Amino acid sequence: MKALCWHGKEDVRVERVPDPRIAEPGDIIVKVTSTAICGSDLHLYDGYIPTMRQGDILGHEFMGEVVETGREVKTLKVGDRVIVPFTIACGGCFFCNRQLWSLCDNSNPNAGLAETIYGKSPSGLFGYSFLMGGFAGGQAEYVRVPFADVGPLKIPHVRDGGPEDEKVLFLTDIFPTGWMAAENCAIQDGDVVAVWGCGPVGQFAIRSAQLQGAAKVVAIDRVPERLRLAAEAGAETIDFDRDDVRARLEELTGGRGPDSCIDAVGIEAHGTGSVDAVLDRAKAAVGLATDRGHVLRQAIMACRKGGTISIPGVYGGVLDKVPFGAAFNKGLSFRMGQTHMMRYMRPLLERIEKGEIDPSFLITHRLGLEDGPEAYRTFRDKQDGCIKVVMRP
Ligand code: NAD
Ligand code: ZN
Repeated sequence: MKALCWHGKEDVRVERVPDPRIAEPGDIIVKVTSTAICGSDLHLYDGYIPTMRQGDILGHEFMGEVVETGREVKTLKVGDRVIVPFTIACGGCFFCNRQLWSLCDNSNPNAGLAETIYGKSPSGLFGYSFLMGGFAGGQAEYVRVPFADVGPLKIPHVRDGGPEDEKVLFLTDIFPTGWMAAENCAIQDGDVVAVWGCGPVGQFAIRSAQLQGAAKVVAIDRVPERLRLAAEAGAETIDFDRDDVRARLEELTGGRGPDSCIDAVGIEAHGTGSVDAVLDRAKAAVGLATDRGHVLRQAIMACRKGGTISIPGVYGGVLDKVPFGAAFNKGLSFRMGQTHMMRYMRPLLERIEKGEIDPSFLITHRLGLEDGPEAYRTFRDKQDGCIKVVMRP
């Protein structure tokens, strides 16, 4: 089959690789009909995750049709149409029983390595390096899906009145991720929620905060098309290249600060090697303010006393210069982590079916799998108004 494979920083290639096979009795093989590129894939593309290996198949946002089932699979059969969550979970451990699906104890075969870095292992993830289990990803024609009775959500085919792929594809990750980011803010009547990052996750966080009752959402980015999309949803916007983010947030909240702050950016705004980090170091050397690229620092300083910092943005390693004293003395709460997908997929599908939201608003680019290298470049560089790329193998 054809698959999109990682070969190093900024080097992804379409290659012929062996078809996946059933390895465990609970596995299925899915023929992929649609697959998207995520901001999380950009951490791999930009070389931030050191446990990728040459030839690893990328991708964790995908859906398709079941073409083979292992002998113990009970709920799915060949021909079924499924939406596959990016986290893999066994469905039976301490964590799965508490709906903490992304912390599953039994789905990461490389737990030992993960524990040396994180203390305890997170769940397995598709297409996200050896550290997260080494599972081949879904930017491919076919993919093996373990624990198939637990994660995948079965939906009717389009010919039987089911929704088009584009309406439901983002239930594989970014819609539940934006939703959980907002839910982690425990939004009360009258709340103001600030969202750093208007990429795909930020866009869903903005809309989810509104659906969960936020009185005002403030969206922060610098990419005009992304700020425009946030404004169209009814958010106030701040261009962090032009405005002083904290001062604007104070203005918009009568000096108190937002009730909750969502970091939908992640490591890129802090990591070594990014343009922002280099610029910030240069500015620090000559004594200029360096807060521009540091989302978490801004969020902690801007948040109102007693507020919540919700972090869907992905962090991999160690983060320095976080003003923990401010967080402590302001009595802030922190909520974060990979999304507990299976809590949200079905209820959010119902919201889509009821017409409360149509997630396809995000898609700006539709390409084939063979256009993968161009698709990654376009999405990373935000060329040509790119907000979300969907590929059809
Ligand atoms: P993206 O890269 O498309 O969007 C990030 C946005 O942040 C960009 O528009 C960028 O311009 C903006 N940004 C950069 N620096 C900023 C700053 N200093 N202030 C404000 N905005 C800034 O990515 P995405 O697909 O939207 O994903 C966002 C984050 O969510 C990533 O870190 C991704 O890995 C993470 N993610 C987490 C989960 C989870 O389970 N927790 C799931 C999916 C994605
Ligand atoms: Zn994703």
